[in-house]
Amino acid sequence: MVKFEYVWLDGSKPTQGLRSKTKIAKDFDGKLESIPLWSFDGSSTKQAPGGSSDCILKPVYFVEDPLRNDAYLIMCEVLNADGTNHESNGRATIEDNDNDFWFGFEQEYFLWNPQTDKPLGFPSGGYPAPQGPYYCSAGAANAFGRNMVEKHLDACMKAGINIEGINAEVAAGQWEFQIFGKGAKSAGDQIWIARYLLERIGEEFGVSINWHCKPLGELDWNGSGMHANFSNTLLRTAGSKAIYDAVCEAFRPVVEEHMEVYGADNHMRLTGLHETAAITDFSYGVSDRGASIRIPVVTVENGWKGYLEDRRPNSAADPYKVAARIIKTVKSVDFTQKAELVKDIDLVSN
Ligand code: ADP
Ligand code: MN
Ligand code: MN
Ligand code: MN
Repeated sequence: MVKFEYVWLDGSKPTQGLRSKTKIAKDFDGKLESIPLWSFDGSSTKQAPGGSSDCILKPVYFVEDPLRNDAYLIMCEVLNADGTNHESNGRATIEDNDNDFWFGFEQEYFLWNPQTDKPLGFPSGGYPAPQGPYYCSAGAANAFGRNMVEKHLDACMKAGINIEGINAEVAAGQWEFQIFGKGAKSAGDQIWIARYLLERIGEEFGVSINWHCKPLGELDWNGSGMHANFSNTLLRTAGSKAIYDAVCEAFRPVVEEHMEVYGADNHMRLTGLHETAAITDFSYGVSDRGASIRIPVVTVENGWKGYLEDRRPNSAADPYKVAARIIKTVKSVDFTQKAELVKDIDLVSN
């Protein structure tokens, strides 16, 4: 017998939360299509009225559960009882069926002491020394919660999640992990399962995860982002600054549409300080960590072949919705209207 842990996103607004429950199965042949649909009470997760409360869980991705024996973590989409996509189902809105889009998300977060309601490393009264020594630190004076962070890294690796690295971040008790996926849905699935694992490991340590983008408010402490690094065949093979400019410019008129899915309370974080661009501005630039979109220097060094980094999504954003919106904007670039670029595009397709 095996344990299937069905994981899904609830209907909480503005930030959806993780939910999960366990189903015991008689056997499992290791194939996604062998994992059955299941249902849950949507009236308890803000996803259905009490009168007709059934919602459907549709398995879309699974890994071996690194924390339990004979167990699997099953990421699910939520469907209405009639099989249509539930309105909370951001994954279903991603238009990337050929997996041409690659995403690398840099997930920042705070390890949080539920007793003091402060980050790990913060004394119960007052504050630790100001920012400076914590980023990529080592030593008990500056790095807080490493045992838990290491356990999470091991769990992700054991599960086969494509985690790329971790680092201690700028604020005390703040950390980051990076996950890369070929295919927007895959990247989102892996971020959500990694977030789920962090929550579960936190239970063992009595430490909660604060995903808010600015948990220390107006004080002089960095907020948490989830930079979205992205590329498609066009960006990976462009070989042209003009093509990169055209793609970046496509983001300018749709700033509000992007902000709608870049995470709650982002105005608190995108102030123009702490390595961010102001929420009201739009800018892009090579190596510019104060820009909305950074063109990584490696992209330029490789002859304008590579990827872009949208620095605006925050730590609590849904990677599915972020990816869906970025894909929509990148695909909106109409090269037939840009005569000077057609030559470059021809070169690309050759
Ligand atoms: P920094 O902290 O300097 O912004 P990181 O090293 O933390 O950068 O993260 C860079 C991210 O960019 C990684 O998640 C990586 O997977 C991602 N990345 C690299 N190349 C590509 C690419 N071609 N398409 C999409 N993402 C990419
Ligand atoms: Mn990073
Ligand atoms: Mn970071
Ligand atoms: Mn980054």
